[in-house]
Amino acid sequence: MVLDGLLPRRCLCCDSRVAQDDGLCASCWRAMPFLERPWCQRLGTPFTYDVGSGAWSPRAIAEPPLFDRLRSVALYDGPARQLVLALKFSRRRELARPMARWMVRSGEELLTADSLVAPVPLHWTRLLGRRFNQAADLAREVARQSGAFYEPQLLKRHKRTRQQVGLSARDRHKNVRSAFVPGPLRTDTLAGRHVVLIDDVMTTGSTVAACTKCLLRAGVESVDVLTFALVDPNARAAGTSDFT
Ligand SMILES: [Zn+2]
Repeated sequence: MVLDGLLPRRCLCCDSRVAQDDGLCASCWRAMPFLERPWCQRLGTPFTYDVGSGAWSPRAIAEPPLFDRLRSVALYDGPARQLVLALKFSRRRELARPMARWMVRSGEELLTADSLVAPVPLHWTRLLGRRFNQAADLAREVARQSGAFYEPQLLKRHKRTRQQVGLSARDRHKNVRSAFVPGPLRTDTLAGRHVVLIDDVMTTGSTVAACTKCLLRAGVESVDVLTFALVDPNARAAGTSDFT
């Protein structure tokens, strides 16, 4: 668009002027709690020293997840938290593209040309209220930018669950346990496939665990999870409760 060159470019987070489109200003960039390698092969959480590729963290060994691998761009804090909230609640849907760009970078090991990229679905009544599913916006962009298949109908949320806000890990698990069913795709579409499940934030992991269980039952070969933000497992006890 002709106007693009005339409009001042703004930081995605704090609105201060920046040199490039779709970027952060220097101070937001510095404050962004990016998760960097070396990280746990299963959970994508950083090691403080390099233990060699393929190593598992003590948490992954003690409680191995149902999904194969998790990758997240950043901890749910500072600018990462601001971007998640702006996409979901301020409906700044244009953020999905730059957020997905970071996700593709963090999830490069997970995304292949054969992967089915699927969002964690919202219940349709919640979709009516919010009008869009932020996870679907991110999944569509991740698929587009990585060349994988976007599969928005892979899962359906057939039970309207309570908001996860304020629930304990155990109650969160109970709340979503049987919330998902396979979508209308034929079973032979799913058999032997690799799925990359997309969400904006991972909190306790109970939602992605329920989705993974449903997909594996439907014949999917393996499930990886890619989220923009990850609630710091060590800070979880302190009660972070901005989201569902
Ligand atoms: Zn900024």
